[in-house]
Amino acid sequence: MITFVGAGPGAEDLITVRGQELLKRADIVIYAGSLVNPGLLRVCPEGCEIYNSAKMTLEEVIDVMRDGQARGKEIVRLHTGDPCLYGAIREQMDLLDKEGIPWEDCPGVSSFCGAAAALGAEYTLPGISQSVVITRMAGRTPVPEKESIASFAAHQATMVIFLSTGMLKELSRELIRGGYAPDTPAAIVYKATWSDEKVLRCTVETLEETARAEHVTKTALIIAGRVLDGDYERSKLYDPGFTTEFREAVPGKTEDPGKE
Ligand code: SAH
Repeated sequence: MITFVGAGPGAEDLITVRGQELLKRADIVIYAGSLVNPGLLRVCPEGCEIYNSAKMTLEEVIDVMRDGQARGKEIVRLHTGDPCLYGAIREQMDLLDKEGIPWEDCPGVSSFCGAAAALGAEYTLPGISQSVVITRMAGRTPVPEKESIASFAAHQATMVIFLSTGMLKELSRELIRGGYAPDTPAAIVYKATWSDEKVLRCTVETLEETARAEHVTKTALIIAGRVLDGDYERSKLYDPGFTTEFREAVPGKTEDPGKE
């Protein structure tokens, strides 16, 4: 069996229990060495075969999986964060399906969650934004034209931008062209949850100079939106004046002064 496992954002204890159990009994691990913390591999059993996919092609990865499967081995394919985001898992799954090789997918903590934790941020604040746009700038991998940064910025929702640390001047320009005011709060989170994590707060206009001053050139997420410092409304869920499925409202009570 092959299991795609989300390694989490970096810290060794931010892999899921299930993911770690899979590593503990893996015969073969193929890990995305450019971003996965190699410390996670410490729990692998003695004699486990370890491959770093940063140096391999898709075909070479599938060759290792096919060969391992033929030998009845337990195989873990370890991807950073959650494999569903920019993980290039679909092409592996499709090739495995074609060969009738079974696989499963074990989710992980994505780096965009690790970055929120580092910032102490809630991406969805009532009255400010109830949506999170996860996207990237076009690089060697193109982004469909309809998904331009500027078109998403027009919504003024929270944006989390992956894979774009090398293009921050253009990113600022596109965010502002799309409708964010230049002074909209933004953050750069480098290596969220790793021991050398850096949290840099700035505005959408000052992304590039902020990253440059701290020598951040890769492995970072850009977060933009008023949720990083705006005036929000209290949640209805915990408002004493609000009845929910689990709790009756206290009559005449609300803790939100302007909300009577
Ligand atoms: N599947 C991963 C994303 C892989 S794409 C996930 O769910 O997080 C690789 C990009 O993710 C990097 O270029 C960077 O933008 C971001 N990234 C991955 N780990 C990160 C971390 N610990 N801190 C900040 N950004 C990270």
